[in-house]
Amino acid sequence: MEHAGWDKIRIKNLEVFGNHGVFPEENKLGQKFLVSAVLYTDTREAGLTDDLTKSIHYGEVSHFITKYMRENTYQLIESVAEQLARALLLEYERLEWIDIEIQKPWAPIGLPLESVSVEVSRGWHRAYIAVGSNLGDKGEYIRQGIEALQDCSDCIVEKESALIVTKPYGVTDQPDFLNGMLQVKTLLTPAELLKKLNEIELAAKRERKIHWGPRTLDLDIIFYDDLVLDTERLTIPHPDMQNRDFVLEPLAELAPRYRHPVLGKTVKELLEALRN
Ligand code: ATP
Ligand code: MG
Ligand code: MG
Repeated sequence: MEHAGWDKIRIKNLEVFGNHGVFPEENKLGQKFLVSAVLYTDTREAGLTDDLTKSIHYGEVSHFITKYMRENTYQLIESVAEQLARALLLEYERLEWIDIEIQKPWAPIGLPLESVSVEVSRGWHRAYIAVGSNLGDKGEYIRQGIEALQDCSDCIVEKESALIVTKPYGVTDQPDFLNGMLQVKTLLTPAELLKKLNEIELAAKRERKIHWGPRTLDLDIIFYDDLVLDTERLTIPHPDMQNRDFVLEPLAELAPRYRHPVLGKTVKELLEALRN
């Protein structure tokens, strides 16, 4: 669990009147919802200094939730939970993760149930993304790629490595590459992130002709938290990263002590092993 070890601020059964529901009467008349949330954050500094600005103001959060649920109307409480979690994570910089439950005590189903609710658990993930280009104005393609990622509201580019000029890998009779690494904070799932990266590559007129062939822009997911994933479309960590100097060198600039979740070695150790 990514959010283990964080401190928690709990809001329990905040009453909000809203118009969410599948039935037109619900949208017209409205009903009461109960919202509970666990906010995962670091309260250590606030606890030591007694300074509210170092924590998350639960009063403000409660008002934010109330306003959001009054101003936006959804059919499903699944959507209320999903959109509210996202809005809160984007609004409060100190909020790392959130569990949020939307309860509908008076759901009109014509049966005597006590209550129904949906709970989701959402938060920020950290991904390392390798960037590469060896066609046209390489630096410009990379710059545009980083900008496009920054423009995606669910991604924040936290760090960029220096760009390095490297010799082509695999297919060697092609122009030199420009390579770099990005540290990105994201709300996207791995599959959603890959889709986003593919869209950005496409916008840079990337054509997939030959594997490992020349390209305007290549964006590969190297790490996503400590996730180990192997599906037909996506392998994380990137399966060949430990053999690539042009990946490890810029990665070592950003995260030398990051430990590969399968190989058990740090990025710095992988780079040293490759070079020896
Ligand atoms: P390599 O992945 O060896 O560097 P490449 O980057 O040239 O090769 P692409 O043509 O960019 O390969 O991607 C081919 C497919 O690889 C993508 O459509 C994607 O589904 C898949 N893929 C699997 N794992 C990853 C990953 N970690 N990051 C990006 N793409 C991945
Ligand atoms: Mg690649
Ligand atoms: Mg790729």
